[in-house]
Amino acid sequence: MADCIFCKIANGEISGGVVKKTPEFVAFRDIKPMAPTHVLVVPLAHVSAAREAKGEVGQRMLGGLLAFATQVATELGLDAGGYRIVTNTGRDGGQSVDHLHLHVLGGRAMGWPPG
Ligand code: AMP
Repeated sequence: MADCIFCKIANGEISGGVVKKTPEFVAFRDIKPMAPTHVLVVPLAHVSAAREAKGEVGQRMLGGLLAFATQVATELGLDAGGYRIVTNTGRDGGQSVDHLHLHVLGGRAMGWPPG
């Protein structure tokens, strides 16, 4: 999508601290990290949010994205301490970039409930 910052990172148009890339997904460092490790994982294909990933294709994308996020967490050394994976969706979810993404946060203890 033309004006989507995550599409530009995904297609290499702008460099974005990429840590892992496959033909379907990319992981890159969050520009404003909220934990010692804070990576975003996104599909290369533009889907605006989790609620828009529908049907068989959407289900495969969501499953693949979560599996990819856990691989990235392992490769970043987060398994022993644990980590959090979260996706913000829409206004009340606090989503600020309209390209489906999972946050992978680790390296410190997380609070609950989230703000
Ligand atoms: P959300 O608020 O859940 O939509 O998350 C969007 C995230 O994208 C925020 O944590 C931002 O810090 C992050 N972000 C925005 N622009 C960039 C960028 N150019 N590179 C890396 N992370 C970004």
